[in-house]
Amino acid sequence: TENISHAASSGIGQVITRFGADFLIETEAGERLRCTARRKLDHLACSDHVQWERQAQGNAAVTAMLPRRNVLERPDFRGKLRPIAANIDLLIVVASWQPAPVWETLDRYLIAANRLHADVLLVMNKMDLRQTHATAEAEACLAEYVRIGCPILHVAADQQQGIGDILSAIQRRTAIVVGQSGVGKSSIAAQLLPDTDIRVGTISDTGEGRHTTTSATLYRLPAGGALIDSPGVRDFGLTGLDFATLESGFPEFRPFLGGCRFNNCTHNHEPGCAIKAAVNAGQLPPKRFARYLSLLSTV
Ligand code: GDP
Ligand code: ZN
Repeated sequence: TENISHAASSGIGQVITRFGADFLIETEAGERLRCTARRKLDHLACSDHVQWERQAQGNAAVTAMLPRRNVLERPDFRGKLRPIAANIDLLIVVASWQPAPVWETLDRYLIAANRLHADVLLVMNKMDLRQTHATAEAEACLAEYVRIGCPILHVAADQQQGIGDILSAIQRRTAIVVGQSGVGKSSIAAQLLPDTDIRVGTISDTGEGRHTTTSATLYRLPAGGALIDSPGVRDFGLTGLDFATLESGFPEFRPFLGGCRFNNCTHNHEPGCAIKAAVNAGQLPPKRFARYLSLLSTV
């Protein structure tokens, strides 16, 4: 057709989402193309950068994956790790006052973000329930996150409070929302991407009618960043935790690590441990340290 004679026949692009074996690609010109991909590219994920080319009859195919900055994986029902989304800059970890935060799970998300070399934003949702549901223990745990410099926003998705603050915090980064079930992730995603026509339209631009996708989907935000929405896969855990990943997921330890007597100190039973000394001296948050020890027993 006319269109195709003017359009580029190959280029680079980004994976918006996946439909079964096919991928929806956004080209550098902003065009949406439905592409097939060889089986060897089955590990492509939402937000991956790719090379594509047009083929006969106007079909298009992904021909290669470009290097990725990171990839978030999750075990499937068989326990095999599956890529969910790539090139993530910011993990938006959502928690709420009801259901109450599971602090060890939050620590695991911080460890995961650190492993991805991604930033973290902790969003405390349902702030309307803070007065009635926050325990002194929960407030003390939250205060420790403030103390270690974790950025925190208090929002109420149902009341459209603080949504603009999340958008401003994302800036130009590619963000993904994670958290326990029931904390309000869908409500937040719906507020961040309020125009459902645009959401569906994103998928229908291929000219093949509307498609529903169960895969993670990349949405461009008006201010320049992007949000990856991944229904059903937001409760990813952290598998294969090793000691180095665990330790580096506690960045507040870093200034003290050089002080441990043994350079392979696990900060558990060893004599001359600078981390334990710092906790006892009130220089490191004790609840985080207690959860570190509990996570240590799992590696
Ligand atoms: P998800 O499982 O994390 O996706 O959570 P949902 O978005 O489905 O929300 C779970 C429940 O929390 C729903 O009943 C929401 O209406 C409710 N909810 C979401 N945001 C708020 C809020 O700011 N305040 C209160 N009180 N409830 C909220
Ligand atoms: Zn130590």
